Amino acid sequence: MPTVVRVALPVPLPTLFDYLPPAEGRWQAGSRVRVPFGRGSKVGIVVDPAASASVAGDRLKAVTEVLDPAPLLDTELMQTLAWAADYWLAAPGEAYANALPLALREPRPWPDTRDEYWQLTAAGRSALDAGSRRGASQQLLQLLAPGPQRADVLGEQLPSWRAAARRLAPAGLIERHTAAAVTTPAGAPLPLSDEQQQAVAAIAAERHRFQPFLLDGVTGSGKTEVYLALIEQALAEGRQSLLLVPEIGLAPQTLRRLRERLGVAVEVLHSNLAEGERARAWLRARSGEAKVILGTRSAVFTPLPQAGLIVVDEEHDAAYKQQEGFRYHARDLALVRARAMDVPIVLGSATPSLESLANVAGGRYRALTLRARPAAVHAPQVQIVDVRSQHLDHGLSPALQAAVRETVARGEQVLVFRNRRGYAPVLLCHACGWHADCPRCERPLTLHAGQRQLRCHHCDYRSKVPAACPACGAGALWPQGQGTERLEEALTALFPDVPVLRIDRETTRRRDAFEHLIDGLRANGPAILVGTQMLAKGHDLPNLTLVAIVGVDEGLHSIDFRAAERLAQLVVQVAGRAGRAAKPGRVLLQTHHPDHPLLRTLLAKGYGAAAVSLLAEREQAALPPYSHQILLRADAHERVAVDAFLVAAAAALPDDHSLQLAGPMAAPMALRAGRHRGQLLLEATSRAQLHAVARPWQRALGKLPAARRVRWSLDVDPIDLY
Ligand code: ADP
Ligand code: ZN
Ligand code: ZN
Repeated sequence: MPTVVRVALPVPLPTLFDYLPPAEGRWQAGSRVRVPFGRGSKVGIVVDPAASASVAGDRLKAVTEVLDPAPLLDTELMQTLAWAADYWLAAPGEAYANALPLALREPRPWPDTRDEYWQLTAAGRSALDAGSRRGASQQLLQLLAPGPQRADVLGEQLPSWRAAARRLAPAGLIERHTAAAVTTPAGAPLPLSDEQQQAVAAIAAERHRFQPFLLDGVTGSGKTEVYLALIEQALAEGRQSLLLVPEIGLAPQTLRRLRERLGVAVEVLHSNLAEGERARAWLRARSGEAKVILGTRSAVFTPLPQAGLIVVDEEHDAAYKQQEGFRYHARDLALVRARAMDVPIVLGSATPSLESLANVAGGRYRALTLRARPAAVHAPQVQIVDVRSQHLDHGLSPALQAAVRETVARGEQVLVFRNRRGYAPVLLCHACGWHADCPRCERPLTLHAGQRQLRCHHCDYRSKVPAACPACGAGALWPQGQGTERLEEALTALFPDVPVLRIDRETTRRRDAFEHLIDGLRANGPAILVGTQMLAKGHDLPNLTLVAIVGVDEGLHSIDFRAAERLAQLVVQVAGRAGRAAKPGRVLLQTHHPDHPLLRTLLAKGYGAAAVSLLAEREQAALPPYSHQILLRADAHERVAVDAFLVAAAAALPDDHSLQLAGPMAAPMALRAGRHRGQLLLEATSRAQLHAVARPWQRALGKLPAARRVRWSLDVDPIDLY
């Protein structure tokens, strides 16, 4: 058998591909190569530079071109990716592709990674002083007034700056430079509290070896200051730090803080970045030039040749789990990388996941706690508002309205939290009981009054609002329940003199709209915000002193075993928005179940106590983290095809007493976008046993004749069962 180059290609097949070596070039594991595939060609990653072929040589094609003589992915990343593809039962090629910025998945040379700077010329300064330019051109001149600016910083502050630069540069008003990163003066660190100092010291003591820490501290307790102190220490040793945040919305605020404090270039990696920028940031990390990297989920694949520290902020956040294709969990992968690189990893949260708490209990993570809030006088006080048999005005109780009134009268801001977009979740005929359902999902359509539309939040089906009931033709159609849009309308009517702002996916569709809205609110003055969980996270609003949480009761009755944990996290995170600065905060939780044990424990004893009792329930029921799960999902236009596949899949499992099997059964959402959905849940107390069964099973599933008529996937450690 000939010696071949074994390559991972970005195709959803659980296999690597063999090619004959190219006529010329040097290649190594981790190099990109272009290879013939089907009728075209693809870019792949060399996994094994000299493997022995599993088929005869005359059936093999040769590598067309070697794109990187030196490996693009280093040994540590290659090993981590191989491990990850194996653990999450992924197609290896998809795992490798996930690790690369899009621009590097193309057969092109690497982009120039030198920093791009722009600065004013003397003529530019005169033009600025004379105020002779208008609009974006004038704004760009102003941005450059303090001194040279990096292109990515300009992009954040003025999205249209490139067009302005194309006008100003030929006129000789501004000029472009490339240079290695320059530094700005670092800001002075805050004197740390005793608790912060202890946390920093404990982590710093382990700074040259693998050790996971859970930094458990309420919002505002100063976790970010702890990260900053540790990043500073890593910088002083010339080592790199990776800071992961769950969503882009949180990045700009954190970025500003990192830049101001550290005085070095901070690279950002997230999916809203222009592809070229992303590739440049990734390559600067790979060369070791970038010392501080801030990013969302996929930034966990950033090369870190001089790693010193990994931080996963808001570690409990579900956004760290990728829900399609390569279904990895960025927090778990970050742990694997920290171990491989022998560096400490800090998982921060005000509401740690039950998984991480169980790891603390098992001695695998060390817990550090921040109890005090350095900048705030008081922790917010949480009160239940019992709304049973109260008169509700669009879902708002008299007590809640009174509290809003008092707060805005003092010139302070209020957040009304409702985790549901749109005007009303159901549109109902008062005469005959008909309600509008999605024809493709058989679930109620949400009324969006502003757009005069009914929308399905599961498949995005849209239709016009009918003028009359389609069933009886006579009845009046009544919106049932409240979404953020309806609450905005109700609050505007109740408080006509106070600005009411809605913050949800609809009002913040544009890239910078969210930041803009939030920035407006940092200014003082009374305001009422209505928002979804976009608002639950990290935004510092100093004048926000009242948080009113409505409509959480649904979370108390969900069939998902993680719903209670999520609800507890959400309530605590939202409550943490109140009273972040000098003013005391107040939180009202409106419910029809004031005696629910979860709410009682949460309010009387806090998240820690609620988590302990939730963990005890999980243990009793042998649910994760006390067992491990793999979910097989399948969907097709025909339900019989799904059923046939799942029955065959169950039959393909070995007879193993250590495995629990649930299903075949319909998915909790049995129909979505016109496709029938079913699933099979595999559980075991031993992860190793579960994986030992799953790997051969995965291969067997691909060969089942019934598999050809469905779409199917395996999800290891699924975080929701939908
Ligand atoms: P977290 O990340 O836990 O939400 P932060 O680090 O953002 O907390 O701190 C919350 C607020 O308290 C911020 O405004 C921060 O500047 C301030 N703060 C944090 N630590 C200190 C300190 N040691 N002294 C004074 N202010 C602090
Ligand atoms: Zn009707
Ligand atoms: Zn639908």
